[in-house]
Amino acid sequence: MAGERTVLVVGGGISGITAAVEAAEVGCKVILVERLPYLGGRVARMNKYFPKLCPPNCGLEINFKRIRKNTDVTVYTLASVENVSGAPGAYTATIKILPRYVEDHSSTSKCVEDCPVDIPNEFNYGMDMTKAVRLPYEMAYPMNLVADAEALKKSVGSVGFNSFVESLESKGIRLDLEAKPEILTVQVSSIVWATGWVPYDATKLDRLGFGKYPNVITNVMMERLAAPNGPTCGEIVRPSDGKKVYNLAFVQCAGSRDENHLPYCSSICCLASLKQATYLRDYNPDAEAHIFYIDLRAYGRFEYFFDRVRNDEKIHLTKGKIVNVYEDPVTKDIIVEGEDILSGARIRSTFDMVVLATGMQPTTSIEKAPAPGVEYDDYGFIVSDTGIHAAGVSKRPMDVGTCLQDSTGAALKALQDTVGR
Ligand SMILES: Cc1cc2nc3c(=O)[nH]c(=O)nc-3n(C[C@H](O)[C@H](O)[C@H](O)COP(=O)(O)OP(=O)(O)OC[C@H]3O[C@@H](n4cnc5c(N)ncnc54)[C@H](O)[C@@H]3O)c2cc1C
Repeated sequence: MAGERTVLVVGGGISGITAAVEAAEVGCKVILVERLPYLGGRVARMNKYFPKLCPPNCGLEINFKRIRKNTDVTVYTLASVENVSGAPGAYTATIKILPRYVEDHSSTSKCVEDCPVDIPNEFNYGMDMTKAVRLPYEMAYPMNLVADAEALKKSVGSVGFNSFVESLESKGIRLDLEAKPEILTVQVSSIVWATGWVPYDATKLDRLGFGKYPNVITNVMMERLAAPNGPTCGEIVRPSDGKKVYNLAFVQCAGSRDENHLPYCSSICCLASLKQATYLRDYNPDAEAHIFYIDLRAYGRFEYFFDRVRNDEKIHLTKGKIVNVYEDPVTKDIIVEGEDILSGARIRSTFDMVVLATGMQPTTSIEKAPAPGVEYDDYGFIVSDTGIHAAGVSKRPMDVGTCLQDSTGAALKALQDTVGR
């Protein structure tokens, strides 16, 4: 399928979506491949995003509309690229598309409420459970159900399962737990690689307590905790006991600028914590936030945002390196220990909850692009810019605004491959 003047975009986050619509709107055919069952990437899972602090759907919905009305964009979700061969102007790519295991023409989440099988909710970073047949989230694109076949197979034949299947069928929805993946081979003239990032694995930070103590969470989890469609419907409460948070600490550079973990600065985490401190203050005006940092950087043009946050007298900024985080086993409070870098005094403070500001690790550091000629830096970010064109955080850590500019540039580079060949 496809051929001349076709751009393959791999990764359906804000960068991939942008590259796809920009290329399509100047007349290219675009194939957009996303591994998850929905588009939007990490941005879809945010509560609000700076600088305007609007909900992610503001920006995403406009782009979904652009995709919906452009017949030149073909979207494959649950899909990944297995192999690429060829050269700029003439690539052949093999795409594997996993089944959704459910034929859904109803587009409604209501009909799955009686699904008898619950699974950890990946959208909320496992902080709650969801149904094994589900709409990934309320604003998902595509607005289609997806099923976890492995989880469902365990309850096949039970009374609850049979009546659930019957109720689905009465609404025109059919489960097919034996559906097989599809393999597609496409000819394209150029490729944009926009596979983004994963949060650094905080369980590797032995002394910072993540995975051991429920009231130590990460910054991406904090986005979900504060979100109205998150596990607590936006209540910023402790995972251990549901108690409202009054006293919250942010530990900056959790694993970042550390040779044993991520040696580089992700540049976004400071602004993310400043933003998240405002979530707490808006939710609970009596609450206080403490940010422990090595260097606090308002990367880009966000100095005014930094000023706004630091003028709040209930947001405290301490230049201090936190080296130990542990739990009071009785209260489940979290104690942080370290050193105040300016005064040299020892820090030992107790909080209701602690957020670890972990960095952004390129997906390509874990899984390289199966394509010729792609070069990486020491951390796994893509550095080559001929042949496959990287876009967004697959190149370096960046905020959404910069991703939009970068991906538009990547789309232009991709278009250059499609002309005159
Ligand atoms: C805690 C935190 C808060 C933040 N808050 C803000 C904010 O308020 N404002 C702001 O501007 N920025 C913010 N950012 C930065 C923002 O998240 C990034 O700029 C943005 O996610 C980058 O988008 P992307 O499309 O490049 O990558 P991603 O969002 O990671 O999207 C990549 C997509 O590619 C898919 N994918 C991965 N591998 C494959 C594969 N092999 N095949 C197919 N698909 C694949 C993924 O599933 C994903 O959908 C924040 C970052 C953090 C850590």
